[in-house]
Parts: sequence; structure tokens; C-alpha cells
Amino acid sequence: MRRKETAACALALLAPWAAVHAERSAPDFAALVAKHEARAIEDRRWFHAHPELALRETETQAYVLAALADTPGIEIVDGDWGTGVVAILRGNGPGPLVAWRADMDALPIAEETGRSFASTRTDTSEGRAVGLMHACGHDIHMSVALGAARVLSDARVAMRGSVLFIFQPAEEIGAGAARMIEAGVFEDGRLPKCILALHDHPTLLAGRVGSCPGYASANVDAFRLTVKGRGGHGAYPHETIDPVTLAAEIVLALPAIVAREISVDRPAVISVGSIHGGSKSSAIPDEVVLSATVRSRDDETRSELQARIERTARGHAAAAGAPEPVLEYLLGTPAGTNDPRLVAEVREVFRRVLGEENDLVYEPGMGGEDFSYYGRIVPGFQFRLGVGREGVEMALHSSTFDPDESAIPVGVRVVAEALWDQLHRPKDD
Ligand SMILES: [Zn+2]
Ligand SMILES: [Zn+2]
Repeated sequence: MRRKETAACALALLAPWAAVHAERSAPDFAALVAKHEARAIEDRRWFHAHPELALRETETQAYVLAALADTPGIEIVDGDWGTGVVAILRGNGPGPLVAWRADMDALPIAEETGRSFASTRTDTSEGRAVGLMHACGHDIHMSVALGAARVLSDARVAMRGSVLFIFQPAEEIGAGAARMIEAGVFEDGRLPKCILALHDHPTLLAGRVGSCPGYASANVDAFRLTVKGRGGHGAYPHETIDPVTLAAEIVLALPAIVAREISVDRPAVISVGSIHGGSKSSAIPDEVVLSATVRSRDDETRSELQARIERTARGHAAAAGAPEPVLEYLLGTPAGTNDPRLVAEVREVFRRVLGEENDLVYEPGMGGEDFSYYGRIVPGFQFRLGVGREGVEMALHSSTFDPDESAIPVGVRVVAEALWDQLHRPKDD
């Protein structure tokens, strides 16, 4: 799968010039982006029309591999990447390795945008037939990554160091990044000096970018609680132990943990998203199952929440004289941090390319993102790429999410320039 360099002679002739002038001879990025813009939009529409769920991104993988094979200077890195793709673009001279990550998976949502390239695909998820859609914009992420790879490929004669492109599956289920790392994406001499990524953002207008230095994404944990009782006839509740009432009490007691037991300085969220029990109005069931997401920003709060949820569930069950409930607790994606120094450096590029007015700072929320796994190993920064349209309300994970494609060349430009800047930035420590 490795592609041989085909322009070796030209590179040899240009090498001395590149070595001396690389820092000051930045390519004409505007022209290169214009050259590759139409292809990037074509790529995006193909990805959009061919969405695939997490860990099933086989056609997507084949498309990415073919596109990269068509990009001079790109080497595909063999490895146990599942449906992911790893590639390296080597420059013409010594320099660091910097990494770019794009995610690949779509969502089980039936599209309702009415676009000519809208998805009509279906698959099965949790035993149900579902429509599929790139409703989180990972189609944009991949097309921007391929566009940036083409731009930097054209500029590689003057480029120092190398860029590691990581096309990662299964972001939506929080599993892809950890798998890529376990499979050795940063091994065999591929530990980058930093890693960058973007996520499209519908409430930020196309042409703008957003940054969040420091804490950026939450610990995303979950639990499933089986509340046990003793079923019986609804007309004689005193002869039962009612798990429905008990579950209702627990659902109301959980937010009180956040409100009354965790300092307001430490953001936390417990949201029960599903509750299932019983099958008939006059029958009290034996058990009720509820599931919830638990969000926090720091490790201490994370473990406190787990302990207090367990105590609250057990305590309410004991008070009701019920059997001990079963708590299955799942520690998911860890909190993510955008390295403040890396953010400051990349924002210099944003301001230069897009203008100060388009370089925004946002407050972090309680969303999760498995990009955080990479940032625990090397300095990382994931920024927001505006894909919003003036006067149009849009949300990620919605069937009507319809990003402004004019954001794609903007993304290609800032990604190519930010990677270039990291490669050519003089060492100052
Ligand atoms: Zn998503
Ligand atoms: Zn996403």
C-alpha cells in the first residue's frame, strides 16, 4: 500500500534551495486551496451520500485510501487500524512530525435536508433498521483533511518535517481514538510533537473559527442501574416492593448529588436518559432499569460522582426494603485539554489567514470528544470550524443539519497553514 515518491529528481534539484529558504518561502496557500477546492467539495458530497456507522466505515476507508494513493508523496502506514487509515506526508528536509486527526463515522439518523447528495442509506443499529447520516459533519472533517493533504503535497518540496494524517473511525461511540493508540499509531517513530483536529460547528458562521484554551471537553461516563423490587398486583401495592416508585425517587435524588454535594466550582451533570419497567398498568414489575450519562471535568469529581451515585441508589433501596440494586458503571472518554501554548500558536495563523474578527474564543461545555485520548500523550488542540449560515438554526446530530460548504476551503486553508506553521516554527526551548 506504500506509494513511491515519483518526483525524486525534481526534489533533489530543489533540495538546497528548500533547505536554505524553507522558513521564509511559505507556499501560495490561497492559490493551492483554490486549486483543490472543487475536489474537496466533491469528496465531501461522496462521504455525505455514503455514511457508515462506527466500526463499519469500510467504503469510507476505501475512498480515503484511494484519495491518498492519488496524492503524490503520501505513504500509507500499514497497521491494525480496523476501518481507520494512517498516512504520512514527508517533507524535503529535517523537521518535526505533526499530526492531524479526522474522524470518519456517521450516525443512525434519517436525513431530511432534501439536498441532491442527501443520504438514503440504511443499516441496523441495536436490532433496529435505521437511516444513516453524516449529521455530525465528519464528512466535512475528512474532506478538509484530504484537501490539506493535497495542498501540503503540492508544497512538499519546500516543506520540512512530516505530517501524520490519522483518519479515525468510531468517534461517535468514543472508541476510535483509544483503538488507534492501542494499535500503535504513535509508535515506530511516529510520536508527533503535537496533534491538531477540528470539529465543525453550526452556530459559528462559515468563515470563522473558535478556540478554547485549556479544559475543552468533559469526562463522559455512563451507568445502567437495575432497581429491584418484588412484583405483584397493582391493586395491592402493600404486598409488593414497588421498583417503579423506588426508581422515580432515585431519578429525583440523583440531581441533588450535583446540587448539594459537589461544589459549584466543579461542573458536573447527571442526566437519566432512559427508564424502562413494567408492561401493564395493573401489574407492579419486579424491576426497573434506568440509564444515565454522567459528566465532569476533573478526575476527583469523576470518582466522587461514581461513589455518590452508588450510595444514593443503595440507600434508597435499603430505605424501601428492596433488594440491593445492580449498578453497572462505565468510565468513558476522559476530559480533554487544549494545550494553551499550542492554541496561542495556531491562533496566530487563524488571525493572519481569516482576520482577527473571525478568530473567536468559546467557553467550554460538558460535551465529550475522544480526541482527548491523543491529547493525554502529546499536546493537542481541537478547534471549531464554523459551518453556520446567517439566520439559519442548525444543530449537530439533527436530521436537518446542513453545513455551509464554503467552510470547506476555509478549513483546508487553516489546516494546511497551521500544520505548515508547526513544522517550520523555530524551536524556542
Ligand atoms: Zn457527533
Ligand atoms: Zn462529531
